Amino acid sequence: MHELSIVTSIVKIAKQEVDKIGGNKALEIYLQIGKLSGIEMSSFHFIWPQCINGTVLRDAKLFIEEPEGRAKCAECETKFQIEKSFDSCPNCNSPFKEIITGKELKIKKIIIK
Ligand SMILES: [Zn+2]
Repeated sequence: MHELSIVTSIVKIAKQEVDKIGGNKALEIYLQIGKLSGIEMSSFHFIWPQCINGTVLRDAKLFIEEPEGRAKCAECETKFQIEKSFDSCPNCNSPFKEIITGKELKIKKIIIK
């Protein structure tokens, strides 16, 4: 499962960060998971508690930002909201565009004790 490997690597990165400063555990973790990142949020939330059990994230409060998908058309430069990364421009119907937001998949911040 895609979400499982994502959560596993988040736990790994959090552990590295905690170790780096000789901390004990993470208190808060802030993630950015864009609507176009391909992450199924229900699976994510299902997996999360199981994966953090016994790790530095065991007591961490989880904060998730989910940026909307936004793109700029490469043909007519219209900016529009997209649900799927293959949506075309609502103005000229061109499939060519630049994704501005929505593909984020990262850890923004970890508060460590
Ligand atoms: Zn267009």
